[in-house]
Amino acid sequence: MSTLIDLIESISDDNDLTREQVHDLEEIKKTYRAQDLSREHYRELVDTLNRYSRAYYIEDNPLVPDDEYDRLYRELQDIEAATDFKDADAPTRRVGDGLLNTFAAVKHQVPLMSLDDIFHKEELEAFNQRMHLAAKIDDEEEAEYCCEPKLDGLAISLIYEQGILVRAVTRGDGTTGEDVTANAKTIKAIPLKLSLSADKSSDWAKAIPDYLDVRGEVFMTRDGFEQWNEEAKKHNWRVFANPRNAAAGSLRQQDPKVTATRPLTFNAYYIGAATPGAGDSLPDTQYGRLQWCKSLGLPINPLVCVKRGFTGMQEFYQYIGAQRNSLNYDIDGTVMKLNSIALQEELGFTAKAPRWAVAYKFPPQEEMTELLAVDFQVGRTGVITPVARLKPVCVGGANISNCTLHNADEIKRLGLKIGDTIIIRRAGDVIPQITGVVLEERTKKEAQGATLTEIVFPTTCPECGSKVEREGSDVAYRCTGGLVCPAQRRLAIEHYAERNALDIDGLGTAIVDELVGHKLVSTVADLYTLTEAQLATLTFEHEDDSGKLTRRTLGETIAKKLVANIAASKTRPFNRFIYALGIREVGTSTAKLLATHFKTIDDLMAATTEQLLAIPTIGPVAATTIVDFFAEEHNRAVIARLKELGVAPEPLEQVSEMNLAQKPLIGQTYVLTGSLERFTREQAKELLEQLGAKVSGSVSKKTSAVVAGAAAGSKLTKAQELGIKVLSEEDFVNLMAEHGQQL
Ligand code: NAD
Repeated sequence: MSTLIDLIESISDDNDLTREQVHDLEEIKKTYRAQDLSREHYRELVDTLNRYSRAYYIEDNPLVPDDEYDRLYRELQDIEAATDFKDADAPTRRVGDGLLNTFAAVKHQVPLMSLDDIFHKEELEAFNQRMHLAAKIDDEEEAEYCCEPKLDGLAISLIYEQGILVRAVTRGDGTTGEDVTANAKTIKAIPLKLSLSADKSSDWAKAIPDYLDVRGEVFMTRDGFEQWNEEAKKHNWRVFANPRNAAAGSLRQQDPKVTATRPLTFNAYYIGAATPGAGDSLPDTQYGRLQWCKSLGLPINPLVCVKRGFTGMQEFYQYIGAQRNSLNYDIDGTVMKLNSIALQEELGFTAKAPRWAVAYKFPPQEEMTELLAVDFQVGRTGVITPVARLKPVCVGGANISNCTLHNADEIKRLGLKIGDTIIIRRAGDVIPQITGVVLEERTKKEAQGATLTEIVFPTTCPECGSKVEREGSDVAYRCTGGLVCPAQRRLAIEHYAERNALDIDGLGTAIVDELVGHKLVSTVADLYTLTEAQLATLTFEHEDDSGKLTRRTLGETIAKKLVANIAASKTRPFNRFIYALGIREVGTSTAKLLATHFKTIDDLMAATTEQLLAIPTIGPVAATTIVDFFAEEHNRAVIARLKELGVAPEPLEQVSEMNLAQKPLIGQTYVLTGSLERFTREQAKELLEQLGAKVSGSVSKKTSAVVAGAAAGSKLTKAQELGIKVLSEEDFVNLMAEHGQQL
């Protein structure tokens, strides 16, 4: 079949046309070509979005961040508004995507819709005006909205008959979902049976409903997500990109036993349909209905509240936005719903979403950017950490241009190459993470002739050229140069001066850099030979208030103070001295433990592995590392020199054998978080204290371990970030039993 262009060509060829007719035909050809092009682009957009939706909804493995999907979706909406292109399979005509055929398909009695998105306050104002107009609300009056956080998980419909959970169905394509009843039953927050609350507030249920179709979000807490991924990395299981995909992937498992192991939870947010029990009726507001659900034992989000008009909604959006980082779950915006059910019913639904609600989205927590290079940094203990240098990008409100890649295994797991377009996630206070590579972009770049380079982990130290080695099952590669390596030397000196160590005020990074750079100091012992005259003339790099780097001279007054501070460090307590030596595996609590068992540094240097292992909580790794440290000739030489120069730490009170047997946890600090099933917090605290441990209310580098019960929050997150040991209730019981506590 000939195209319109062919036909036009044949008309111009076959006929004697006037100049005007030729001109007109040329114009028609131009318009058609332009249309054809945008039609092609439109189709390409539909196909791309459908491909992304499939990966997101069906495979729980997104190819691009949500922000990129939303950008393309908006472009599609704009094209549809300006043209008559409206393909039946366009994502603008559908809710979600297809279904996984591993589950039985179930038709929703009432469709489960999506939400229309807005991103700016002008759009919120327009929504408020639309509601006023459509619901014929007087301008004098302010419409009432139920304002809710937009939880980032997946929607589910729970069907209760006579109060018993009979079915749980995913949203699917909005009309038909997947039957995930067996899996949903493993989620503790989903009641298997509704029960009435003793409280009889006006909006609370007075009888178990005959029938209830309640909709809500299944989601994963941030703690749970981090913990799950850590575990997954250890076992080479699938690592999820974010808590949303983790929740979707976990709920849609073939084996409910697997779902049961995943930290999923649930909040109800809407009643699809209900037949209240005898003597009861459904509240006539969205907020009231949520309270009604709550009184039946269905958890609702605690941040839900009622606000009036545009100003009220905007306030809520800002209030929730300010809390976003400190919540233990991801939210991607707020949802504003007209509170009156009568008005909701009057407004009804579009093909895709309710007309009476809107999702007012927050800035994204995931973005795409380019991996420009990978640098390798050497830490105090020689660990080589790969650091990604990124094309700067704003994620979750912060500008990011660097991001740790942790270790060689992480690079391999991500399959990264330099030049790749990557997805970076920054949620809450958690450090930014690269969560994946946008492989489509790699293919595009390669098709355009670009060569993406493999990341090669160095075999020699980038600072000193010594060999880089990996010990046993350790994931870290280390420089074997020890104090020969200037990076390790600098960091070892900084560590020695740290507040928890010998607390040498004024000896910061910039000055240490100069001292090492000018070879005035090569080991910590050299600090005690520095003179005021040497320090007074030392120049170092200084950043002024505007961020400009200038060179500064230390000067006599500061030099004098610094020499005095260095001298004062000679007699700090012995435990701080041990910590200051920077022995691997010896943190502040182990150092304290050692100082209570060995009176002097000579005693500690002479300790055998067996003697160290006899100290409760010192394990084989720490014992071997300590013995190895003191066996190194250069470490012994530094310690001898420190003694010569008058470094004489104050001994700590020694633990007697008797004392030790009764208080094996002496020198250790524990933090309790979440709720334990078998003990109150007071009981757990007492048990720990009886064994000599200190129990603190906050997690810091000094914490020995965190005991985490159910619903543990930010303390657990912090412990994970700091790499502090986390004990489950079972671990805690075992620890108590090991030390003979009667439970
Ligand atoms: P949506 O997630 O933007 O909003 C609707 C959903 O919000 C509901 O189904 C429900 O699950 C949830 N929700 C959370 N809290 C709620 C509350 N209090 N009240 C009511 N609903 C609440 O819409 P969608 O249709 O599920 O998905 C579209 C979004 O998914 C896009 O904006 C995009 O960001 C993302 N997406 C991403 C990709 C990708 O490749 N990254 C692909 C497809 C979709």
